Amino acid sequence: MLEAFEKELEELKKRNLYRNLIRIDSTQGPEVVINGRKVILMCSNNYLGLANHPRVIDAAKKAMDIYGYGAVASRLVSGNMTIHEEFERKAADFKKCERALLFNCGYMANVGVISSICDSAEDLVVSDKLNHASIIDGLMLSKARFATFRHNDVEHLEKVLKAKKARRKLVVVDGVFSMDGDIAPLREIVEVSRKYGALVMVDDAHATGVIGETGRGSCEYWDLWGEIDIQMCTLGKALGGFGAFVCGSRVIIDYLINKCRPFIYTTALPVPVVAAAVESIKILEEDPGLVKRLREDVVCFVEGLRSIGLDVKDNGTAIVPVIIGDEKKCLAFSRRLFELGVYVAAIRPPTVPKGTSRLRVTLMATHTKEHIERAIDAFKKVAEEVI
Ligand SMILES: *Cc1c(COP(=O)(O)O)cnc(C)c1O
Repeated sequence: MLEAFEKELEELKKRNLYRNLIRIDSTQGPEVVINGRKVILMCSNNYLGLANHPRVIDAAKKAMDIYGYGAVASRLVSGNMTIHEEFERKAADFKKCERALLFNCGYMANVGVISSICDSAEDLVVSDKLNHASIIDGLMLSKARFATFRHNDVEHLEKVLKAKKARRKLVVVDGVFSMDGDIAPLREIVEVSRKYGALVMVDDAHATGVIGETGRGSCEYWDLWGEIDIQMCTLGKALGGFGAFVCGSRVIIDYLINKCRPFIYTTALPVPVVAAAVESIKILEEDPGLVKRLREDVVCFVEGLRSIGLDVKDNGTAIVPVIIGDEKKCLAFSRRLFELGVYVAAIRPPTVPKGTSRLRVTLMATHTKEHIERAIDAFKKVAEEVI
């Protein structure tokens, strides 16, 4: 029985697409311990260093002293606690939306929102070709028809919207694309979507805490306050923890509470997770300098890579993809970087299109200039050997 699975795994190994788990034996700082060695971490989404912020840790502990650990029921039964509502008020306020709703993670939020907002064959979901896997899975689970448009190509989006009639239309894009780090042209996307009566949903997983002057994400970056119908933000990236929230109008949130299965049929997030998220948002509100520090680190890193002859783009986000192309080379590059004290995972298909395997470097506000210089030295050495 198991041979068929083994055979598939062997096949993946042959094609350099096999994946295995790397273990971190320390906290998730700018440096981590892997295999007994301290290395610079450059592929985490802990963009602002909030995962280990003393205030965040303290908030989680204190909340447990008051409310205990688990919520042990779904929100609609008896799992809706003071802290969940406190978070939702905070999150709505942070994003200047009428309401926000907690989800257990971004993956569930995307799957749930897409499949419940568009839940009939008369509906249409239109998705950017490079959208995150969880959005694609949302399309699969939805009863609606779906169409894709070429990455960031608003003209193509318009063609698709124009060509198809539907009861409800939903246009979904990543605010910041997770593997390329580029930003969706949201002003135009919102404009075209309005023209054809489509709702707009933005996945702000890599935008929240990163773009916009105070880290409020796509709506701030594009000055589209109140114009984006549905925003999805994970708490597992710049906000340093776990969980997610969706925000938008009162009606949309009320609809999700009533219709969205991944909201309804799951246990509410545990107390410390939610309390930590409240504190993370407070820290970001009080110190937007975190966002600036992250930006400075990205600029410094990109300039460094360019100075050693690597052709990389600064997209204005925390993600700097170094495209290698070939899977095997990409793995070799990542392994050699590790030997030199820098950990960047090799990202390969199906996460990215074939022939575009890459080192997806991410910076953190807590990286020091010295970390960045050491990383650039390592990239220089490895690039000479591998490319
Ligand atoms: C990480 C990510 C998600 C999933 O969020 P989780 O909270 O980790 O489940 C969704 N969308 C994008 C673009 C992401 O990068």
